[in-house]
Amino acid sequence: APRTVLISGCSSGIGLELAVQLAHDPKKRYQVVATMRDLGKKETLEAAAGEALGQTLTVAQLDVCSDESVAQCLSCIQGEVDVLVNNAGMGLVGPLEGLSLAAMQNVFDTNFFGAVRLVKAVLPGMKRRRQGHIVVISSVMGLQGVIFNDVYAASKFALEGFFESLAIQLLQFNIFISLVEPGPVVTEFEGKLLAQVSTAEFPGTDPDTLHYFRDLYLPASRELFRSVGQSPQDVVQAIVNVISSARPPLRRQTNVRYSPLTMLKTVDSSGSLYVRTTHRLLFRCPRLLSLGLQCLSCGCLPTRVRPR
Ligand code: NAD
Repeated sequence: APRTVLISGCSSGIGLELAVQLAHDPKKRYQVVATMRDLGKKETLEAAAGEALGQTLTVAQLDVCSDESVAQCLSCIQGEVDVLVNNAGMGLVGPLEGLSLAAMQNVFDTNFFGAVRLVKAVLPGMKRRRQGHIVVISSVMGLQGVIFNDVYAASKFALEGFFESLAIQLLQFNIFISLVEPGPVVTEFEGKLLAQVSTAEFPGTDPDTLHYFRDLYLPASRELFRSVGQSPQDVVQAIVNVISSARPPLRRQTNVRYSPLTMLKTVDSSGSLYVRTTHRLLFRCPRLLSLGLQCLSCGCLPTRVRPR
């Protein structure tokens, strides 16, 4: 029988693409429940699903921040989820001083507690059936902090700690956890963030910090998306591989062009190499703006972490 896959956040980006790809699996291994907070946005998904709509793909309402919405959605499918993909998420960038606690809590409610809420709902069924797979769209920012992304990175670190802990218990029930860690992905995600920061004033932030954010970080970030950004299709291929794997990995990074940065933390567990190198890339190496991660070859990264 096909496996029931429930995905959150399918109105755009990675979630939409994943839902469509799984629904078109040539071996018809999946029955996809593609969920979104606002069903008013379902047209793009339905058009992309084509003839799979109503066959291997159904669309359902699900707001990961609402207990009622989660209960309602799961009652419609008798709670039998074989694969849960926690994809819904939101970003938050900017100087800490200028961000409200409410905005930060909203990020945690969505990115962290949204996933926890869904896991609590599907876990009893998975445990009873002694099978299941929980996939979490984390980020390389779940592995290492990134300047001006303090709260977003914290929400992804929270996911990493939570799901790594849970993975140990769940092995006993034949339930697998996989944290997928993309680098920059070219979706609406970045556009939404840039629109948000273009009008934000970040009250209470000193001029130096504002200058670093607007004149150094924002152009560097745009350049990073341009130079090493992946398409949602590439990320989805990695997720499909994880879902179809007989022994799913706990962690899977999707972007080899970003791995020189994640390696900095692996090779120096004190953390200084990562912090100092990324500080230097942003504040001292002017070539970063034009060359992105190719900066590795201009010599501004220590030799021992340069790829051969
Ligand atoms: P996206 O903005 O296109 O997709 C995020 C989706 O989550 C949207 O459809 C949005 O409506 C939905 N969502 C937000 N709050 C929700 C809620 N309360 N209930 C239900 N749905 C909600 O961006 P994306 O790039 O496709 O992001 C998908 C995931 O990938 C996110 O978890 C994001 O953190 C992660 N990610 C993105 C990038 C990137 O650069 N785009 C990099 C690494 C990880």
